[in-house]
Amino acid sequence: MKFKDYEYIRPNVENIKKQLIQLTDNINNAVSFEEVNNAIQEYVLIDNEFGSMASLASIRNTINTQDEFYEQEQEFFDTVSPELAEYFQNLNLAIYNSKFRTELVEKYGSKIFREIEVDLKTFKPEIIEDLQIENKLTTKYDKLKASAQIEFDGKVLPLPGLSIYLQDKDRNIRKSAEEAVCNFYKEHEDEFDEIYDELVQVRTRIAKKLGYENFVELGYYRMGRTDYDSKMVANYREQILKHVVPLANKIYQLQSERTNISDLKSYDLSLTYLNGNPLPKGTTDEKVEKARVMYHELSKETGEFFDFMVEHELFDLDSKKGKAGGGYCTYMPKWRSPFIFSNFNNTAGDIDVLTHEAGHAFQVYCSRDAILPNYIWPTMESCEIHSMSMEFFTYPWMNLFFDDVDKRIYAHLTDSITFLPYGVTVDEFQHVVYSKPEMTKEERKAAWREIERKYSPYKVYENDLLERGGWWYRQGHIFSSPFYYIDYTLAQVCAHQFFVKDIENHEKAWQDYYHLCKLGGSKTFLELLKEAHLENPFEDGSLTKTMNTLEKWIDNFDKSKLN
Ligand SMILES: [Zn+2]
Repeated sequence: MKFKDYEYIRPNVENIKKQLIQLTDNINNAVSFEEVNNAIQEYVLIDNEFGSMASLASIRNTINTQDEFYEQEQEFFDTVSPELAEYFQNLNLAIYNSKFRTELVEKYGSKIFREIEVDLKTFKPEIIEDLQIENKLTTKYDKLKASAQIEFDGKVLPLPGLSIYLQDKDRNIRKSAEEAVCNFYKEHEDEFDEIYDELVQVRTRIAKKLGYENFVELGYYRMGRTDYDSKMVANYREQILKHVVPLANKIYQLQSERTNISDLKSYDLSLTYLNGNPLPKGTTDEKVEKARVMYHELSKETGEFFDFMVEHELFDLDSKKGKAGGGYCTYMPKWRSPFIFSNFNNTAGDIDVLTHEAGHAFQVYCSRDAILPNYIWPTMESCEIHSMSMEFFTYPWMNLFFDDVDKRIYAHLTDSITFLPYGVTVDEFQHVVYSKPEMTKEERKAAWREIERKYSPYKVYENDLLERGGWWYRQGHIFSSPFYYIDYTLAQVCAHQFFVKDIENHEKAWQDYYHLCKLGGSKTFLELLKEAHLENPFEDGSLTKTMNTLEKWIDNFDKSKLN
């Protein structure tokens, strides 16, 4: 069966509620482990069915945000998901309090209990209405961005359609493309500010109702973090400032010399080379076919996986009018299918999708036989290790996609380093915002600009909105997934470790990686790192060693190939 034939049926929420109540009773009144276990198995089926329909509706809604049917279905899930949370939580509570804990831990491991504990800290029925408001606000943000129709170069383009101009060789084109993007955000400045302010207020209200001082601690629990807290993260950001910002400065200094632009402006930063950034070859179908060749050569497992994706048409790759922005990978347990969504625009980003999102899809494909739905995906910072490391593992095949393969690899590696200061900027901003929810819209923008100056001294703006601190409107995570963004940076520094290991010993590095993919979400972040023989990024020194190696790699790179 192909994706287009996957049948959508709106879940019957009243039935699900009844079933969950019944199963909760069964667990509470069980006189044997078998009874508890049977109830859990039934719950897994309900969860899989509901989750699959929610994913299917969401995929089809993002593929065409103007399709009224799936828009309604998306609204349906926005409303019922928080309602059902109470029933799922009661069931989890019953598992948590079961007198058969010993047998349960033996069968399912202890992680589920730690997760339930964290989960219990994030929900009370009193917050249902607020959660619904929160969902609607994030959907509103997505729609506002997707509504963009920007006139440029004689065309009418959605936001992702501008990316190629932002990397154009002609400085004037880059500058006017940045202006065009900023004009859209400036025109809607009040709306973006308002949506965000309402989000901050509703999240703060939720936190207070749950007994927290503000949203920060709750935000960590909502991310399912059981291993680390905001203090450890603050210390990690400090290390980025110390060890990565100087290297990022050096990377832009080299770029400035290479491109003969002595006064680098924000719109110059993505022009890595004077002769333009390497662009991928071929049509979307050709790129997918090359990816298939690549994954067959990389390993038996990745070959099988990619054939499955192609056979079931589990991709929607091209940018289209009305399509939501960005890219993601999701999973539908009912059909055991990952799905990859993106907006191809003929930049190197297209190939990042075929490696990054495919890395996510490969991991979920590897762990799809997990005994519990919670064990399929790990927490987000661990998820991104699979995807970002896949970007590095596929370096030997980049010649299939690019003529200027050295330029591609150098740009990819250096981008992965300069990304880190940006990632911690997004994170620190949110800590400031949620610690002081009473800040005004202008104070928030000023705070963003101040943090940005600290971590990215090389960002020099000519645009008024950006100079006032308005860059973050475009960073969807700030709106929809608070405190998520740091996870990308944590994963990135782990992926850098895989890059170094891959150079030293490919077989060993791949074994560790495949092992990590198969573990899925059965362990926590720090436990997974141990299993994969990766260093803990919260520990002093782990960053120093990797960054030194990367700096040497940059120093030794034959720069005559970078024109
Ligand atoms: Zn990802």
